[in-house]
Amino acid sequence: MVVSFFASDNTCEICLAGYQSRCEHVEFVGANGAQAQLLRVPLADGTLVATPGMPEADLIPSLLAASDVLGTGWFGAVAAEAGPGKTVAVVGDGAVGLLAILAAKELGAERIIAMSRRESRQKLALEFGATDIVEERGDEGVAKIKELTNGLGAHSVVEAVGTQEAMMQAIRSTRPGGHLDFVGVAHGIQIPGEELFFAEIHLHGGPAPVCRFLPDLIDRIWRREIDPGKVFDLTLPLSQVADGYKAMDERRAIKVLLTPEN
Ligand SMILES: [Zn+2]
Repeated sequence: MVVSFFASDNTCEICLAGYQSRCEHVEFVGANGAQAQLLRVPLADGTLVATPGMPEADLIPSLLAASDVLGTGWFGAVAAEAGPGKTVAVVGDGAVGLLAILAAKELGAERIIAMSRRESRQKLALEFGATDIVEERGDEGVAKIKELTNGLGAHSVVEAVGTQEAMMQAIRSTRPGGHLDFVGVAHGIQIPGEELFFAEIHLHGGPAPVCRFLPDLIDRIWRREIDPGKVFDLTLPLSQVADGYKAMDERRAIKVLLTPEN
């Protein structure tokens, strides 16, 4: 089974419209503690998505990625309308940003610009399908995106950080009429109304309805078409969970995989 971070009934009007993360009966799966050997899943009928069988060990990291960071990056790319003929810019090189690149590639985007200044992450971004790397941030980063898009900005932008700087960078990198999806959890962001008005972009964001994408993502992983599990660059036993968070906080690891002990 694969379970996203939100439990949903998958039958209400909001769920049927593809927004399971805002289900009328939504519950946060981690609320009662999720990094454990056992987990009680609320609304199990609507929340759990079955795999076709017992997965081979090498598929487990990718299936785990599907439940959270891949599902979120995928939503970012879909909501930003990444697709054939589109130039996509991704702000943020954490696991979600990197997997938004993989998603944009799978969705057929023509050009994918990764905004990243760390070499190991740039390497993974290129492996996942990025065609260009922009190291500059803030307005310098925006100028670089404009330079790469005939002064227009990207058609599709995914914001996967959640800071003021990243959000403004994302808004200013989107061309008029373009689509921006923000999946970085917003921390104290304030958007100037007048600038947003004249930006004339489609703005969409929020917690990803991972459940909407799970059947398709599990299928792609099962057929070994994608390998999103590559974002896990450190594996630790569950008892060392605190070290795992520390490694991510200090940017020594992109994402940590915890293995349950019996
Ligand atoms: Zn629902």
